[in-house]
Amino acid sequence: MLRLLLGTHEWNIVEEGFHPERNRIVESITSLGNGYMGMRGNFEEEYSGDSLQGTYIAGVFYPDRTVVGWWKIGYPEYFAKVLNAVNFIGVDVTIGKRDLDLHHWQPSEFRRALDMHKSELSRDFRLQDGQGRNFLIRTKRFVNKEHRELASISYSITLLEDPTQEGAAITFSPYLDGNVVNEDANYGEDFWLGVTESSTPDLQLVTMKTKKSQFVVAAASSFSLYLNGKCLEHVAANCTASSRLAKAEVSTQIKSGDTLTLEKLVAVTTNRDFPSETVSEQATKILEAHRRKTYEELFAGHTRAWALLWQDSDIRIEGDAAAQQGIRFNIFHLHQTYTGEDPRLNIGPKGFTGEKYGGSTYWDTEAYCLPFYLSTSDPEIPRNLLIYRHNHLEKAKENAAKLGLKGALYPMVTMTGEECHNEWEITFEEIHRNGAIAYAIFNYVRYTGDKDYLQEYGLDVLVELCRFWASRVSFQPRKGVYMILGVTGPNEYENNVNNNWYTNRIAAWTIEYTLEVLGGLDLATTNHWGLEGTELTKWQDIVERMYYPVVKEHAVFEQQDGFMDKELVPVDQIPVHELPLNQNWSWDRILRSCYIKQADVLQGLFFLGDRYDFETKKRNFDFYEPMTVHESSLSPCVYSIIAAEVGYQSKAYQLYLRTARLDLENYNNDTDDGLHITSMAGTWMSIVYGFGGLRTEGDCLSLRPFAPQEWRSYSFRLRFRDHRLEIHVNSNEVVIKHEGAYHLNLLVHGQNHTIAPNGVLQVGIPKE
Ligand code: BGC
Repeated sequence: MLRLLLGTHEWNIVEEGFHPERNRIVESITSLGNGYMGMRGNFEEEYSGDSLQGTYIAGVFYPDRTVVGWWKIGYPEYFAKVLNAVNFIGVDVTIGKRDLDLHHWQPSEFRRALDMHKSELSRDFRLQDGQGRNFLIRTKRFVNKEHRELASISYSITLLEDPTQEGAAITFSPYLDGNVVNEDANYGEDFWLGVTESSTPDLQLVTMKTKKSQFVVAAASSFSLYLNGKCLEHVAANCTASSRLAKAEVSTQIKSGDTLTLEKLVAVTTNRDFPSETVSEQATKILEAHRRKTYEELFAGHTRAWALLWQDSDIRIEGDAAAQQGIRFNIFHLHQTYTGEDPRLNIGPKGFTGEKYGGSTYWDTEAYCLPFYLSTSDPEIPRNLLIYRHNHLEKAKENAAKLGLKGALYPMVTMTGEECHNEWEITFEEIHRNGAIAYAIFNYVRYTGDKDYLQEYGLDVLVELCRFWASRVSFQPRKGVYMILGVTGPNEYENNVNNNWYTNRIAAWTIEYTLEVLGGLDLATTNHWGLEGTELTKWQDIVERMYYPVVKEHAVFEQQDGFMDKELVPVDQIPVHELPLNQNWSWDRILRSCYIKQADVLQGLFFLGDRYDFETKKRNFDFYEPMTVHESSLSPCVYSIIAAEVGYQSKAYQLYLRTARLDLENYNNDTDDGLHITSMAGTWMSIVYGFGGLRTEGDCLSLRPFAPQEWRSYSFRLRFRDHRLEIHVNSNEVVIKHEGAYHLNLLVHGQNHTIAPNGVLQVGIPKE
């Protein structure tokens, strides 16, 4: 278990002692990012041991040609690969005559620490050389939250003891290196072409361009050298530039007690923001504007920006350091991944922490991430997330047409609105993703009260989603019902099933909601979408005659037709060494089994929670939870929320820990690939929606809080329309502080309350 390696500090993730066999996992966990760019926790200096080197720039991808054995009509032309980009953190180091490479030179007292409050990654370690000289190495870096194009690195070496009394020569070689590959590239394919590279003592510059997609990226860097804190001016530097590499080399002799520090500043620009031919110039200009500032000066602005984010979104837990660290780790990585400033960007399931799924948009955004942004950020951010899909509507219509269907089918995975995933069971069948997009519109409007959004953007999308469902359903005349055949539900451990309950439910709900919204408009407005009476009648008929599979003897919804024909054996009967199933069982065996990858029926009960009573939720939870393996990171949060709702508080807590510490404990044995960023918003939900019981009922906020037994108390902040709330919960009471100019009506444990402007409400928590 990793916990033994990464201590439970409330604001820090600390690796004590270097464990090369876990290096990739810790690299993922200690990734840094600022929404614009980021990188894994790689070492600055050369490391020839096992490592996944990765630097990523938001929106910069490569359209890798779809290569399949058997082409199926409707496959996308390409698969979008998030690209490993120019490595700009590099600083090679030579001490005496020996190159520093921790694979060959064993450090002592090694400590790699991520400060989540300030978003800074540091390392401290000691080295001894053949002559008995002892060195202390300290590195720090941050990806600037105030100036998104900037990143800073500080690399210090102190000569602690010197029995030779000769001192030591230190050489620093800061560099920019565009000779990078993607580990997931076929045949080590190189996705970049060099444009220019140059290196002088004042400026190193590498500009490159992606093949096919023509993204231009420039990195410019400068450095300063300090001896015992004093800047060394005019140090002779040996500067070299070769294909996609710009390097400078500076050497100085230090004596016992001296600390030599190299500070490196980097500016990264792309043609996503500037005309291609000016990208290098812009990187240089941005660098110039900041290069006189020290690491600490830039860091001060960066930490101020982070402090503001934490002010609105921190969750404080008292009495449980592991849970506290877990939630902060999740919130921290969400802020590192997405800022909402650039409407072309979205939230990639791996953010800047790995190649897999990296950078692309999934249904995760609407289904899992939106609530976090609704409650903790400026309203523009959730709105932009929705507009992102509106901007892709035409592409989604083309996608549906490609499959011979009407309306819009949003892609399962996308960079630009085009589908870029090519497994038939997902690309063609996991159509429930359309439901999450409709639900997000409903959820946004209900939470913010921004009804204008519907007419301006929302209905354009909803109408096309309904058209899709109306053309995708099949009418079954014998039974007089509508069915949805050949789908994959959220549980991807079942493919090509008929009547996945969740898909049927969310499809009918989308139509019902759209009809309700349209019903509030006059005819002239409705004409805008070319809607005719017959189309609307068919939609209404689908709502009324949709088929839903049920298991009568257990009074639960059936995940899909035929689910009950499987051998229903709970997960706790599977030998532990066979888990996770996806790494131990053949796909065929998984498909035939009853095991559930992630919330499926329960996803529906979560979304449409106000339509189902307590007993229904409880019965379905009791039935499905024992068969759920949670092998999608998105799973435990939804189960935790429903467990909390149906009174299984300790189960909710266990599931919370599973989601909050999924990557910290490497529960799914895949953290080496990168982190599970989108499920991190689910972790936030499992506290705020699960333990806090947050829901919106009509125009009213509703809370049903309780404190897990393991915690003394917890508190979180919420934005709701023009109100800001701070909610503090312990086992006896909830205290709600209100900042806002108007009265706020809200429900607490089902009772109506009003809080005056800037008032405080204190309510006892009912005992079970
Ligand atoms: C899940 C999907 C999810 C994707 C990206 C898969 O493992 O099954 O629901 O969209 O990961 O997070």
